[in-house]
Amino acid sequence: MCGIVGVSGPEHAAELAFLGLYALQHRGQEAAGICAVEDGQARLRREDGLVMEGFDDAAMQELRGRVALGHTRYSTAGGEGLVNAQPIVVRYHSGELALVHNGNLTNAQSLREELVREGALFRATVDSEVIVHLIARSRRANPDEQVHEALSRLTGAFSLLITIGDTLYAARDPWGYRPLVLGRLPDGWVLASETCALDLVRAEFVREVEPGEVLKIQDGELIPLPGLGRAARVQPCIFELVYFARPDSKVWGETVDRARREFGRQLAREHPVEADCVFSVPDSSNSAALGFSEESGIPFELALIRNHYVGRTFIHPTQAGRDFRVRIKYNPVREVIEGKRVVVVDDSLVRGTTSQGLVSLIREAGAKEVHFRVASPPVRSPCFYGIDMPTREELIGARLSVEEIRRKLDVDSLGYLSLEGMLGAVNGGRPFCTACFSGDYEAPLVDLERGLPVQAHC
Ligand code: SF4
Repeated sequence: MCGIVGVSGPEHAAELAFLGLYALQHRGQEAAGICAVEDGQARLRREDGLVMEGFDDAAMQELRGRVALGHTRYSTAGGEGLVNAQPIVVRYHSGELALVHNGNLTNAQSLREELVREGALFRATVDSEVIVHLIARSRRANPDEQVHEALSRLTGAFSLLITIGDTLYAARDPWGYRPLVLGRLPDGWVLASETCALDLVRAEFVREVEPGEVLKIQDGELIPLPGLGRAARVQPCIFELVYFARPDSKVWGETVDRARREFGRQLAREHPVEADCVFSVPDSSNSAALGFSEESGIPFELALIRNHYVGRTFIHPTQAGRDFRVRIKYNPVREVIEGKRVVVVDDSLVRGTTSQGLVSLIREAGAKEVHFRVASPPVRSPCFYGIDMPTREELIGARLSVEEIRRKLDVDSLGYLSLEGMLGAVNGGRPFCTACFSGDYEAPLVDLERGLPVQAHC
């Protein structure tokens, strides 16, 4: 998962890209990058860590121009390090090209092999670099056609923002796995992964970029280009609604908070329980826990407090015990929990290790009974479309039955939201990607089928 933003029009576009990244920080904390384009010349700054850490006033002054791209990186494909951070910027025969990508190509390794055979030199290991090479090597006459030809060769998940000179391109893959929204500024346009970025820069939400759509913004004008075709079954990622997107964003036509509340309500209907209070694993489960409380009538409490200042990679070497990561991040409120029958609502269960640690904290705080509820189905399959998930062997839902997981977590009862219940809560008949729950992969897994290594990107 990554966050991307593109701005075209305002005098200091990089300022708005910076604010947009700030709003998209939850989509990646490993590195941040901004590229600004002035008179066709791109200036780039990429830094490890949070957006606020890497871009002071002096840095922003350097990033001049009316066009800018921004990216927050979630460490996945190719490992950490700035060499794999974005935007990627290169100079080729049609000018300076910059690119940011959210998603994961499922044929990246196959294309890379082909490009290497033809003499291409790769600097980084992320799949996005393949796209840059495909554009640069295109024999088509102009940048519009070069972009189209390159994107037509990609399989898998991509929401892309590209600048060639001062022109901004936006595109989504034919399945529409990852989000990308278009907003209007008084003096230009902004594109971003989520609407919360539009809100912060006071852009008016116009619409989602459609699956398979390619847009160009040039001299203030929004120009539709020939598209990539729309897949017969579009596949917006339902995990965006479960966990990734911010609750104040609107994704896939749903306000994320509303969708999560509905998941919580449905979960309460599917797995009722007698209990004294319900609480969330903050923050991503707050809305689902509220929905559970509203439907069940069990009072909602703030019983777990999350420390928001835990460094991303902070592990004290002498204290790195089994529960330490959990303890440093969450603290239970004993007065709320002691002697109570509690319902804990989490958005999803991936490895299960955090949940195990949490349950032991809750038991230590004196809970009489612990009932665990998960506002999504068991995660049984890895994601190949842009979400960094562990291997199948590491997924607790792939290895163990629900009863075995209940015993492993040491809870009195365990209930997952059903796949039908989750889809029924949001889709109104629309298709979603649910591959990590159902194992039904829609976009071909080209590299995997050829036995090539598949890397999650972002
Ligand atoms: S496999 Fe899961 S996380 Fe990946 S795109 Fe599909 S729903 Fe989203």
